[in-house]
Amino acid sequence: MATEINEKLQSLTVEEKLQNLYELQKIDSEIDKIRTIRGELPLEVQDLEDELIGLGTRVENLKKDITTYKEEISKRKIGIEEATIKKQQAEEKLNNISNSREFDSLNKAIDYQGMEIELHQKKIRDAQRNLADKEVALANAEQTRAERQVELEHKKSELDSIVAEYHQKEVELSERSSKLATTIEDRLLTAYKKIRHGARNGLAVVTVDRNACGGCFNNIPPQRQLDICSHKKIIVCEYCGRILVDKYICDYDGSMRKADLEAMESTKRKSRRSKKTEE
Ligand SMILES: [Zn+2]
Repeated sequence: MATEINEKLQSLTVEEKLQNLYELQKIDSEIDKIRTIRGELPLEVQDLEDELIGLGTRVENLKKDITTYKEEISKRKIGIEEATIKKQQAEEKLNNISNSREFDSLNKAIDYQGMEIELHQKKIRDAQRNLADKEVALANAEQTRAERQVELEHKKSELDSIVAEYHQKEVELSERSSKLATTIEDRLLTAYKKIRHGARNGLAVVTVDRNACGGCFNNIPPQRQLDICSHKKIIVCEYCGRILVDKYICDYDGSMRKADLEAMESTKRKSRRSKKTEE
């Protein structure tokens, strides 16, 4: 049965074979495009997720810094209280001293505690300044995080529906591709698949574009182009091995050729008109 069908496919004209191949290529290229888009979409979500993780770490670090500064401030305040008490005790003792040696050492102690208090006060001011900076940074980071979170949720639901839509499209195109594949004889289909997998852009059948191969862009000699247009032989590019077709191969009702001719005519008319105005 399968060989029977294959024999029937072999008896198709070269033109029909080329048409089937090119139709298959168009569908497969569409599938490739959808897969590329589907592959890129989750990257945007991934980027946002990574950014959120980074922001989370930043928030945690800022909170830690804030706690450290607050702890330092309260420790310094206790330090001030202790130094104040020691200073007062020394001052009280100063009232009933017995000798000058004691007088000197008490004065030294008073000076020392005074300097301690000043140092604590300076450190508290520094810590308060840093604390205020960190609190502003924390508020900003938390706000950005909240915004990104909303953005992420939005992107995710958007992605889900796009992925579902593309998946549906991909399923439909894959069905059409499989159906079309049954219209191509085994030998040709194998060759097509082999070229397609070997090619970076997934193109096995390409049109001749501005006298060049649409796959590798190497020039195609005029005689070879005529052969391609005659649809009598399957011709491959001598540089990249892709199957070459002319761009009208699947222009069954001639509408594409007609549109091209009209466009060409109108460009000619325009250039004629502009030449006249120049004169
Ligand atoms: Zn080529």
